[in-house]
Amino acid sequence: MKKIKTDFLIVGSGLYGCVIAERLANVLKKKVTIIEKRNHIGGNCYSEIDEQTGIEFHKYGTHIFHTSKKNVWNYLKKFTSLNNYKHQVLSNYKSKIYQMPINLETINKFFNKKLDPSTAELFLKNKTKKFIKNNPNNFEEKALMQIGKELYKAFIEGYTEKQWGKSPKKLPSSIFNRLPIRFNYDKTYFKNADIEGIPLDGYTEVFKRLTSNPLIKIIYNKSFNLQQKYIVNNAIVYTGPLDKLLNYKFGKLEWRSVKFKKKILNKKDYQGTSVMNYPEKKIKFTRIHEPRHLHSNRKYKEKTLIIKEYPELNSNEPYYPINDKKNRLIHSKYVNYLNKNYKNFFTGGRLADYAYYDMDMTIAAALKKFEFIKKNLK
Ligand SMILES: Cc1cc2nc3c(=O)[nH]c(=O)nc-3n(C[C@H](O)[C@H](O)[C@H](O)COP(=O)(O)OP(=O)(O)OC[C@H]3O[C@@H](n4cnc5c(N)ncnc54)[C@H](O)[C@@H]3O)c2cc1C
Repeated sequence: MKKIKTDFLIVGSGLYGCVIAERLANVLKKKVTIIEKRNHIGGNCYSEIDEQTGIEFHKYGTHIFHTSKKNVWNYLKKFTSLNNYKHQVLSNYKSKIYQMPINLETINKFFNKKLDPSTAELFLKNKTKKFIKNNPNNFEEKALMQIGKELYKAFIEGYTEKQWGKSPKKLPSSIFNRLPIRFNYDKTYFKNADIEGIPLDGYTEVFKRLTSNPLIKIIYNKSFNLQQKYIVNNAIVYTGPLDKLLNYKFGKLEWRSVKFKKKILNKKDYQGTSVMNYPEKKIKFTRIHEPRHLHSNRKYKEKTLIIKEYPELNSNEPYYPINDKKNRLIHSKYVNYLNKNYKNFFTGGRLADYAYYDMDMTIAAALKKFEFIKKNLK
């Protein structure tokens, strides 16, 4: 096989790799080759059209773009506009539907009360006071301090245990920070986002536009490793996992994974919303996605597509990093080793950084890395 000759070699056609590729080609007029081990562009943001229903769905889980970062939106809007989708999460507990994050409607419905904002706050204070501690030792203790036993048992305990494959007693308290509680009827999910929506033509079209410069070439179904020889004039940007790259020499990084099961139903609308949580432990899946609700501007058939999400613990497909001390230490060993031993070899993105990044964080990080590369280019 002919050796690849290029200015920049980018490993991975996810958001991080494609944003850097776009900048290198459009701003610096560099020749860029992207190697992608999957058979498609877009990494985990990839979307495709389901053949039977015509519904566009996100193969690796529902993705909603949201940001308050001006530079990120100024950049992305050159490649897409967004539809008017605004995210809301509902929870199906014992066949009744509740709003998430927990708000005044959730509290009143769950306890069958007619509380107003201040009486609801007092009501919950009474429920939580016996759990108050200065330093909660784990997830469960922190959750009980904030929402009391009944709401915790219904909405949090089972869901968390399914998701992490561990009792919430064995999880760090820091994870619970992500669940706000509201004493009003606000059901907005992404509270701090100035910009929110789904790309009007879907995510995959955005990736096609990002990489449309003829200086960018993408090679699919090809996995990169350090033994392969490439002729690279400037640098390699690697966006895959570092442990695999270095043959697990410092140990394996742990990830939590998920599996998706698709089903087509002969009805127009199954659940009336894009994502429904199922917190009960006896139900094996954690969520049902119904992607038709992501594009309310589109005309779809009288059939719908639902996707059940099942947590998977022993899978090689990395979704969420287990960001504890042990894994962070292993990760730092890989980073130090690469910095010491490889020149003109940059890493970044959610896999290489072993971090959960929302899409806007990924774009911001890629733009920053591009500026660094540009500054240091000889
Ligand atoms: C379930 C889930 C839901 C999410 N929902 C949202 C959301 O609603 N909103 C939001 O803002 N963010 C969301 N995110 C985050 C979003 O997916 C990430 O920000 C984004 O995908 C990160 O892009 P990336 O390029 O870093 O990684 P990836 O998208 O993972 O891309 C990396 C690419 O590198 C390829 N690759 C890896 N190793 C190699 C190799 N050795 N050789 C060749 N190719 C390789 C992979 O195949 C992949 O295509 C979600 C994430 C998950 C897991």
